[in-house]
Amino acid sequence: MSYPEQAAEVLALCARIAAHTDVPGTITRLFLSPATHRVHALLRAELESLGLDVRIDAIGNLRALYPGPTPDAPVLLLGSHIDTVPDAGPYDGILGVALPLVLLKSLAGTPLPYAIELIAFSEEEGVRFKFPFLGSRALINDLTPTDLARTDAAGISVSEALESLGAPSRSVPSNEVGSQTPDLSNALLLPNTFAFLELHIEQGPLLDSLDLPLGIVTSIVGQSRFDLTFTGQANHAGTTPMHLRRDPLAAAAVWMHRTEAYALAAAPLVATVGIIATHPGAANVIPATCTLSLDIRHPDPEALAQATAHVLSLATDIASTRGLRFEAHPTTHHPATPMHPGLRALLAEAAGQAAHHLPSGAGHDAMILARAIPAAMLFVRSPGGISHHPAETVHPADIAAALETCTRFLTTLNPADIAK
Ligand SMILES: [Zn+2]
Repeated sequence: MSYPEQAAEVLALCARIAAHTDVPGTITRLFLSPATHRVHALLRAELESLGLDVRIDAIGNLRALYPGPTPDAPVLLLGSHIDTVPDAGPYDGILGVALPLVLLKSLAGTPLPYAIELIAFSEEEGVRFKFPFLGSRALINDLTPTDLARTDAAGISVSEALESLGAPSRSVPSNEVGSQTPDLSNALLLPNTFAFLELHIEQGPLLDSLDLPLGIVTSIVGQSRFDLTFTGQANHAGTTPMHLRRDPLAAAAVWMHRTEAYALAAAPLVATVGIIATHPGAANVIPATCTLSLDIRHPDPEALAQATAHVLSLATDIASTRGLRFEAHPTTHHPATPMHPGLRALLAEAAGQAAHHLPSGAGHDAMILARAIPAAMLFVRSPGGISHHPAETVHPADIAAALETCTRFLTTLNPADIAK
């Protein structure tokens, strides 16, 4: 079958998966929901028709094994997630399951020096339990009893939700006191797994702006978040002359403007203020305090640390020249995760001129697995840069290019060359 024909098959499979939703009229599939169980049944039927062994592991990941030359052959892991955000598009995550499935079909009979495990991760977005990457965390034994005790909006814990896996058609059991922590050992990585490749839509506008179909991810960006406060002096908006004010909101505005200019000149740095509030917050009162959020990301850990120090010292300077106080409290930090250089080089060779090297500004399952095994990501252009939205789409020709690149990658990959 030609690559365009295979691409049509991938798109048809994505559409069939998108038809299974928890909220009619949208694409919404949450962790272990009825729609997720229906997608499991669909994928199981497809994979079993290829003669593959299929199972659902203890965290709800669907896993299929394409056998290698010997039972103890090294295992290449392929896959992505099948859960979605509410009112999602049809490709985020799903493409990274549907495309490898079609790839396995096209490979049937081709001898490879390794086995392939395809995983449809159960939970990446973290919508149901406000906690992302449940599926991939279980593979590297990174779920604690506290994580499993998290509850959803209905008060059902992760552990209780996992009990439903025994009988997928049954509704999730009601809240029980003293339920046990489930045994997740069958959700661990297969012991011979030597690498992970995740295929994903870019979810950003860069490849589209370069008119290129594919991207090779250099690194998944590091991300730091802070709560910032400028403190000044509340006073009357009518009687306080401009030169005698200590206005924290005006200082914050100057700081945001300078931070934006700094980040613009320091690509791929991105810095975002998403929340801003003043106290007391009245039209005729100069604010006493201005609090704001800062989310700052960069693929290089040193550059992220430097940029963070720079924008925070900028705030301190602006505050001191205006007679204000400035404080910054760190809230979260995720270090940058570089993708494996050997796998990246192989992907680059397989993609040729079709690919651009770029960091991922969003988190992915590959970022979790990279903590245990060599990991790489191949991006497919997102037309218009739209994702997490029903208008999310892909170009069929880009899917064909991804299939061609992945086929070359799989047929040239030698496990012995991929050192940890
Ligand atoms: Zn995704």
